[in-house]
Amino acid sequence: MNNRRSKKATAAIIAIGAVMYLLMQICMMILATQENPVIIGEFVIPASTFCGVFSIMQVVINILLVLITGKSGFKATITILTINFVWMFLVVFVKRVGSSLPGLGMVLVDMFIVITLYRVLSQLSQNEHELDKMAHTDSLTSLPNRRAFNLAMQRYLGEKNKFAIAFIDIDNFKNINDTMGHDYGNQVLIEIARRWNSILGEKHFLARLGGDEFSLIISGYKESSEVKALVERYQYCLREKFLINGKDFYITASIGVSFYPDNSTDSSVLLRYADTAMYNAKSEGKHQICLFNQAQMDIMNADVEGENFVKNAVNSQRFQLVYQPLFNASTEKLSGYETLIRFKGENDELIPPYQYIRIAEKLNYISYIDKWVMEKSAELMKAAVDKNENVLVSVNVSVAFLLSSDFLRTVKAILKRTGFPANNLVVEVTENLFISSIEVATEVLNALKNIGVKIALDDFGTGFASLSYLHKLPIDVLKIDKAFIDTLSDDKNDEFVRAIISMGHLLNCKIIAEGVETKSQLEKLKSYGCDVIQGYLLGKPMSYEQALSLC
Ligand code: C2E
Ligand code: CA
Ligand code: CA
Repeated sequence: MNNRRSKKATAAIIAIGAVMYLLMQICMMILATQENPVIIGEFVIPASTFCGVFSIMQVVINILLVLITGKSGFKATITILTINFVWMFLVVFVKRVGSSLPGLGMVLVDMFIVITLYRVLSQLSQNEHELDKMAHTDSLTSLPNRRAFNLAMQRYLGEKNKFAIAFIDIDNFKNINDTMGHDYGNQVLIEIARRWNSILGEKHFLARLGGDEFSLIISGYKESSEVKALVERYQYCLREKFLINGKDFYITASIGVSFYPDNSTDSSVLLRYADTAMYNAKSEGKHQICLFNQAQMDIMNADVEGENFVKNAVNSQRFQLVYQPLFNASTEKLSGYETLIRFKGENDELIPPYQYIRIAEKLNYISYIDKWVMEKSAELMKAAVDKNENVLVSVNVSVAFLLSSDFLRTVKAILKRTGFPANNLVVEVTENLFISSIEVATEVLNALKNIGVKIALDDFGTGFASLSYLHKLPIDVLKIDKAFIDTLSDDKNDEFVRAIISMGHLLNCKIIAEGVETKSQLEKLKSYGCDVIQGYLLGKPMSYEQALSLC
């Protein structure tokens, strides 16, 4: 019961208990021969009263021994009581000393108490042990669970020997669950756990972290290069087909591995690195083993840096807007501007947004940024529209912002507050918008159109936009992606660009060519009937003052 106390301390406690028990026994024997009462001051106490007190104290000693030292105490107590019993038995029945008969009975009562107490304590301890086991075991596979894994990890870290963590994810497991049902998926997980358990090395620790994610801690290897071969055994063990409920199929796993102490000495970082390596294994085509390496570490650090940069920029609004002019293809007159965001660097230098937009999307900051851009642009560019009522001002709107519940309310509020005319505003969206929900997206775009705002489909040609549904969308402008303009010298691409332009016109859309950098591109686009030109040839993104001076 109490196995944390050292053996020496336990032996000492038992010895003290036994000596005290013996002393009381001797006292009782002496008192038993005393016919006269004991006189203490003015009190006259019969000797038998003392005997009763001592025998109760003996019971208490025995109880304490069992409580404090558990099994060892129990064994010692039973031994003492047995010896005492035999001796008392002889006194009563051989020596025929009748006065010792109650003492003999008391020994039996003592034995009963000690045995009962020990049994109750054992049961409690067993229950505690089982509860503890349950809390650390995955109920489906009976493998250690995430909590047990964390404890094991702390243990390995404490030992300070090198070890590796393999993060294992079953490939396409979601498909199995979706097509065959959860019960079936559970059977697969049980079988996987069974196979891995059968090859589990002595110095390996396998746990199910949840879902189809497992983790393996490997120690006891000499060189890191051995780890891959060790992990391969776990992958190899899945190669035989799985036959469950009469259906058979094959399972593969993607595995990422990180190393202590080479990659990190922090358990959560190690697990994150193994997870990153696992994702790399997935992106390399699944059924792979990927060891975490310096290059991946650099990417992660860069990501963290990027995230911090975006967070700081958003918190202190370190943005600035630039405006790229757009020109009518045939007259080469200004037709409008695209508003583009720049992030301010440490020295207020303006940084193009490409990579930060991706991070802002990941951090859910993009709606905030887009709103800021729309508001600021409407506020400032009102002056341009006042000067030239035909000028259109476009802003890029991310999927997250457009599909957010208060998007329409926000746009209306911005137009109202700034006085910017809705007819001069263009919202640029990409085809990603239609991936999640074409119905909802169309609804929002229709509502925008109803208040007069124009809609441009950006980066056209790079996404999945299908001609079959394009006519159903309320699109006013198609922006041909720069990639097609870049290769305009290629005849095949020429045909493609021409086809986009004529199809766009059939759908009543205006066509903008993005990224026009050369005169020959411009001439070709003009001859193909493109409506608007955007690109470095005619105008780079510029400051507000420069932009305003153009209209
Ligand atoms: P985009 O919407 O396709 O914007 C056009 C990008 O092409 C701009 O890059 C522009 O500077 C660049 N560009 C224009 N003409 C030329 C050319 O002739 N040659 C070359 N090499 N590049 C040209 P920028 O400003 O770096 O913006 C990159 C992307 O960032 C934008 O692509 C847009 O997707 C996104 N973005 C910019 N501002 C915002 C914003 O406020 N909100 C959101 N959600 N995204 C934005
Ligand atoms: Ca754009
Ligand atoms: Ca674009």
